Amino acid sequence: MTKEEEVLEPADGQMVRIYHCGPTVYKRPHLGNMRRFLFADFLRRALEANGFKIKEIMNITDVGHLTRDDIDEGEDKLEKEAREKKLSPQDVARRVTEQFLADLDALNIQRANRYPKASDHIAEMVEIIEKLIERGHAYQTDTGVYYDVTSFEGYGKLSGNSLDKIEAGSRVAVRGEKKHPADFALWKIDDPEHLQQWDSPWGRGYPGWHIECSAMSKKYLGDDIDIHTGGEDNKFPHHENEIAQSEGAGDEPFVRIWMHNAHLVLGEAKLAKSEGEQLTLDTLRERGYSPIAYRLLVFASHYRSKMNFSWSAMDEAAALLDSLKQLMRILKDAGADNEEASYEEEIVNGWRSALGKDLNTPEALAVLIKYMHWANSHLSKSNEEAGLIWATLMEMDKVLGVMEIMVKELSEETVPADIQALADKRIKARAERNFDEADRLRGEIEAKGYVLEDTDQGARVIRK
Ligand SMILES: [Zn+2]
Repeated sequence: MTKEEEVLEPADGQMVRIYHCGPTVYKRPHLGNMRRFLFADFLRRALEANGFKIKEIMNITDVGHLTRDDIDEGEDKLEKEAREKKLSPQDVARRVTEQFLADLDALNIQRANRYPKASDHIAEMVEIIEKLIERGHAYQTDTGVYYDVTSFEGYGKLSGNSLDKIEAGSRVAVRGEKKHPADFALWKIDDPEHLQQWDSPWGRGYPGWHIECSAMSKKYLGDDIDIHTGGEDNKFPHHENEIAQSEGAGDEPFVRIWMHNAHLVLGEAKLAKSEGEQLTLDTLRERGYSPIAYRLLVFASHYRSKMNFSWSAMDEAAALLDSLKQLMRILKDAGADNEEASYEEEIVNGWRSALGKDLNTPEALAVLIKYMHWANSHLSKSNEEAGLIWATLMEMDKVLGVMEIMVKELSEETVPADIQALADKRIKARAERNFDEADRLRGEIEAKGYVLEDTDQGARVIRK
């Protein structure tokens, strides 16, 4: 709102109440959408790492709201998808929601406290609309109830859009029954084609685009919330209208801090925009990437910067993930994961303070990479500090959220039987002083991607 960095001072002391605009569940979210949910996850974890407690809500838009504010010309994507698939809108919404939650899990995104559905909160929306009419912020016409933007003094304060500018830029066709072109629907009636309809004091119909977020944030987080997030495309009109509704119906400033993430841009010309909208986690898997590599790629850009997506950027993220995993493998082999070690405070403090500066994830990642390089060069001299390094990495991973996945992968990693058989043969060859054969076996093991490491207990096989 202020276009400045603000100190976070939650109303309830250390408890931060966060509202995230969630997905519209007509279609599986693409990678660009998932950036938004990763940003929300990094924010929540970074706040926790800095000592805050979190109450976090993300709505699921499962009612037929229109995707454009121009409600008379807009197309309801949920209903369109339902018609095309010959399913009910509820079935489409349920299937896409399940897929969405599975995608969150695959990206190791921690679950919010709740994912309330718009369709379960029609009564709460009606209540706010009644209040807005009562307070002179809304009016009824033959097609529904509209918000009167001229009645709300602060309209445009978030996006910088003044009412004059909006009026000058509007077409006559969008005005219809509205008093001002920026007036927006709170409730629509008289639309028998619409599949999802509910009773209301103004007739059978359905809610407008924005009212659900005002209703659900109030119900679960109260009248004023600490942080509200969304994509930069949500700023206008969606968030501007949320402010007009929530502050028009209540007495508190709606939100203390707004945070909007920038878009994903496709960095390779050969990736057309339409393809970008088709990119999902399955596209990554088909190309051999772990979803976690995408998590790391998103972490590498600051949320307010446009993020370039390309296959070469994915390769770089995957390579970083590999070297991190190799370091962890060495540490684990040294028994580091069983150590009760404390972490290196100076490193972890540097990591946390980078995250505390407007969620500066690229700066935090630089701290981690520098530490990885140090750890790699340090390990060759001594394994004694392995436990300390492990603990330090794991502390940083509370926000990064990729190493905990690798720990699971590493614990499932065993040396394949054929490689172990070659290693056993080599031990036998050495015992028989057949060194040519032992060297040949070592070469064969290495050609298969494993190395032999001589330790006090004898030779050990590890993955290259
Ligand atoms: Zn919203």
